[in-house]
Amino acid sequence: MSDHRILVASRTFGKGAQKEQLYSLFHAYSLEPTFLSMEDAAENISEFDGLIIGTSKVTRNILAEARRLRVIIKYGVGIDNIDTAAAREYGVKIMNLPGINSQAVAELALGMMLSVARNIVKGDRELRNGNCEGFIGTSVIGKTLGVIGTGSIGCALTRMVSGLDMTILGYDVVHNPSFIASGGKYVTLDCLLQSADFISLHLPLTQQTTHFIDREKLGRMKKGAFLINTSRGRVVDEQALMEALTTEQLAGAALDVFESEPPALKELFKMENVVVTPHIGAYTNETLRQMDEACISALSNALQDNKKKEPTH
Ligand code: NAD
Repeated sequence: MSDHRILVASRTFGKGAQKEQLYSLFHAYSLEPTFLSMEDAAENISEFDGLIIGTSKVTRNILAEARRLRVIIKYGVGIDNIDTAAAREYGVKIMNLPGINSQAVAELALGMMLSVARNIVKGDRELRNGNCEGFIGTSVIGKTLGVIGTGSIGCALTRMVSGLDMTILGYDVVHNPSFIASGGKYVTLDCLLQSADFISLHLPLTQQTTHFIDREKLGRMKKGAFLINTSRGRVVDEQALMEALTTEQLAGAALDVFESEPPALKELFKMENVVVTPHIGAYTNETLRQMDEACISALSNALQDNKKKEPTH
C-alpha cells in the first residue's frame, strides 16, 4: 500500500463498486455523504496528497491550505468547480475523465427529448393520480434537433438521433468532423435557434458560456420549441427560462442540472411542461464502474513515484 493519503469528496465515487480497491491501494478517507461543501474539509485538507472531487467547489482558500496536495481527480468531466489558476500556482495537477460518461449523458438527453415530446413523465404522474386522460404530444420524426456543443456528448447524441429521421443542426466554436460524419450539419447560432424544434445543450461551463441561453436567445428560439439541458445549470438563465415556459414561448424543458444544486428555483418543479432529474447524466452501472476504475488508475499514475510534495506554501 502506498503512503499517500487520499480524500474522497465525491458523493458518487464508489457507486461503481470500486471503493475497496482504492482503500487497498491508498490511505483513503471519505467525507460524510451528507457533506455540503469542501469547506467542511478545509481544516484537514493539509494532510492529503490526492483529492477525488465531484461537484463541490475547490476554491483558492482550500488550495492554499492544501500544502501536500499533488493531484485533484475530477470524478467526471466539467472542471468548472475547481479554481484552475490557483491549482496551477500551487503546483496541483488536475485530471478529469473526458469522454468516459458521454454515452450515458447522451442517452439521458435522448430520453429527455422523448419524455418532453411525448409527455411520458407527465402521463406517468397523472395516471398514478388516477387521471386516465390521454395527453397529445409531438412526434420527433421529421423535426429538427439543434445540438449546442458538438464535443464528445453532443456527438454521441447525434449518432443515436441519426437513426430517428430528424434533421440535426450543430453550433460550436470548433467544427468536429465526427459531428458531420454522424449526420450533423453546422449552421450559425442564429439559424439553429430559429430552426430547431428541440435544442440540447452540451457546453462546458466557462465565463463565455455562463447564461449562454439567456432571455434574448430564448426569445430567438422557435415558438413552441423544447430545451434540454444536461450540461451545467448556469449555462441557462433559469429565471428567463421560467418566463419563456410561462409565456409558452417554449413548449417544455428537461433539466438534469440547475443553477444551484440542490435546486433553489422550486417553481420550476411545479411546471407541468418541465421534466427534472437530479444530475444523473453519468449514472449507469456500466459508466460508474468505468469511472471508478479510471479514477483509481489516474491517481495511481499521478502518485506512482511515491514521493511526497514538499510543502511549498
Ligand atoms: P467536450 O469538451 O467534449 O465538448 C464541449 C464542446 O463545447 C466542445 O466541442 C467545445 O468546442 C464547445 N464549446 C466550448 N465553449 C463554447 C462556446 N463558448 N461556444 C460554443 N461552443 C463551445 O465536453 P463533453 O464531454 O461533451 O461535456 C460537455 C459538458 O457536459 C461538460 O463540460 C460538463 O459540464 C457536462 N456534463 C454533464 C454531465 C451530467 O451528469 N449531466 C456529465 C458529464 C458532463
